[in-house]
Amino acid sequence: MTSGDLVVFLKIYAACYFGTLALYFAQGGIVVWINRRHLDRKIQRDRKDRDRTRIEIWQSVKSLLVTCFCLAAGLFAQWKGWTLFAPLELTWISGIGMLFVSAVLFDAWFYWGHRLMHTRALYKHHLWHHRSVAPTVWSNYSDTLVDAFAMQSFYFFYPLVMPVPSLVLIGLRVWDHINGQIGHSGFEHFADRSTRFPSPMVCVTFHDQHHEHFHYNFANFFSLWDRLCGTLHPRYDEQVKTFEQKEPSVSAEEKAKGGGTE
Ligand SMILES: [Zn+2]
Ligand SMILES: [Zn+2]
Repeated sequence: MTSGDLVVFLKIYAACYFGTLALYFAQGGIVVWINRRHLDRKIQRDRKDRDRTRIEIWQSVKSLLVTCFCLAAGLFAQWKGWTLFAPLELTWISGIGMLFVSAVLFDAWFYWGHRLMHTRALYKHHLWHHRSVAPTVWSNYSDTLVDAFAMQSFYFFYPLVMPVPSLVLIGLRVWDHINGQIGHSGFEHFADRSTRFPSPMVCVTFHDQHHEHFHYNFANFFSLWDRLCGTLHPRYDEQVKTFEQKEPSVSAEEKAKGGGTE
C-alpha cells in the first residue's frame, strides 16, 4: 500500500465518519422535535431513568470511528480490487436486487452476531449498549468498540466475497443508520398491519422490547429469524396492535416534562 493509497483511504474514512456524524445529529434532532409533540406515542411511559443523553452521544462519537472504519475499509478494498468478485455494474435491477439481498444477509449476520454477544463469554462487551433500558434516539451507537466491530465488520467482510456495488453498500449503511436511530427512539409512529404477523417487517416497538426485556427480538430489519428461532417477544404482535388502535391520553405531568426523553 503506497502513501497515495493511504491518503485515499483516509479521505474515504473521513467522508464516512463525518457524514454519519452529521446524519446522527440532524436526524436525532428532528426525531426528538417530532416526539416532543407526540408524547402519547412513547413506548415505555412508566420508566423514569436518569437522562443518559450526554453519555450516549459521547460513546457514539467514539464507536462510530469503528463502524465507519469497517465501511471505509470495505469501500477501499473494492477500489483496490482486493475482492473475490468485481462489483456488479450499477443498474436499477442490480441496485434494487443487491440492496434486498444485502439487507437479508445483514439481518442474518446481525441476528446471529447479536445472539453471540448475549452469551456469557461475550456479554461483557455488549452490556454497555443495554445500560439504555429505555433507548433514545441517541442510543443507536452507544456501544463498546468491540461490540461495534462485531456487528459492523459486515461492511468490511461482505464486499470481499459478494459483488455488491459500492453505492449499494453505502445505501445499506444509510438505511441501517436511519432505521437504527428511529428504532431506538422510544416512540412508536409506525405500528400497523405491515409491522406484525404475518409480515416480517418491524416497527420501533421491536427493538425497544429488546432493550426492555433483553432476551427477545435480536434481529435488525426483519422479525423473520426471531419468529423462526422462538426469540420473538411473546407480546410483540399484540403490542403493535395496541399502538395501532389506541390513542393513549397524556397526563399533565408527562406534558410538563416533555416526555422525559432525549
Ligand atoms: Zn442486545
Ligand atoms: Zn439497541
